[in-house]
Amino acid sequence: MGQIIDGKAISASVRAQLKRETELLIGQTGYTPALAVILVGDDPASAVYVRNKQRACAEIGFRALEYRLPASTSQKELDDLIDALNADDTVDGILVQLPLPHGLDEQSVLLRIRPDKDVDCFHPYNVGRVMTGKSRLAPCTPMGVMELIHSTGVDVAGKECVVIGRSNIVGKPLSMLLLRENGTVTVCHSKTRDLGAVCRRADILVAAVGRAGLITGDMIKPGAVVIDVGINRTPDGKLTGDVDFATAEPVASYITPVPGGVGPMTIAMLMQNTLVAAKEHLAEKGK
Ligand code: NAD
Repeated sequence: MGQIIDGKAISASVRAQLKRETELLIGQTGYTPALAVILVGDDPASAVYVRNKQRACAEIGFRALEYRLPASTSQKELDDLIDALNADDTVDGILVQLPLPHGLDEQSVLLRIRPDKDVDCFHPYNVGRVMTGKSRLAPCTPMGVMELIHSTGVDVAGKECVVIGRSNIVGKPLSMLLLRENGTVTVCHSKTRDLGAVCRRADILVAAVGRAGLITGDMIKPGAVVIDVGINRTPDGKLTGDVDFATAEPVASYITPVPGGVGPMTIAMLMQNTLVAAKEHLAEKGK
């Protein structure tokens, strides 16, 4: 029987720790870390994500700045706002909620955010730093996955780690974080032959695809740690992961549920990146 990794509880304890650190920082320096979130357009899912981020900021004690721009916003207007926030030394993190409405260029937006304020860690400079192992910021969802793995007490070093999915926001950076901790990493994708055979080698298996029930119990090595990043909607509107929980759970040693696994960690890691950025900014100012 697999032990459930409780992402909600782990996220709450990370956020509680960040709150304590933030109180200490404010007490010592008088400075309150600040996160600016830009939402362009009225995508309802994005609005929920932004609200959750604002709520997490308030809970931890950060200053939360919210910019809601209409879908008709021009590239120039968005660029000007980013430039102003880049130049504002009371802002530590800048996050542009993706996806952007049609007509706005995501790549140029990601390039425009100053790397030291890029708390999503999507700027190519930060992506490169993750790759060379020098970064203190890391992409939020992969970092959340690492926290969940750490919570099991299982040491990544020397383990066969299989990541399914090679996206720039999850699969690729996660493979780098696992490699940083000396895992033996295999990355699978839509062209991988015999996915089951590769998965069965894994001591640590992470699914980040977006296909409900892709990973079944027979694809899991007995005793493996299974982390399910996938978020899918069933026809009756429920959330479900990429892992078929009913058949996987008896085989795994540890397994994340969906919802309540990786999801709650992403926001906690965003808050952590914001605090890291704020501390670096204070250090630059000699505080
Ligand atoms: P993506 O669509 O960018 O990438 C999916 C990857 O899966 C691709 O690399 C593709 O090659 C691979 N793939 C597709 N079909 C496959 C198959 N049959 N076998 C093996 N690999 C296959 O997706 P993404 O942005 O990386 O997100 C992946 C999933 O994780 C989605 O369900 C998304 O909603 C979820 N997600 C969750 C969080 C969170 O906070 N929990 C954050 C980001 C993404």
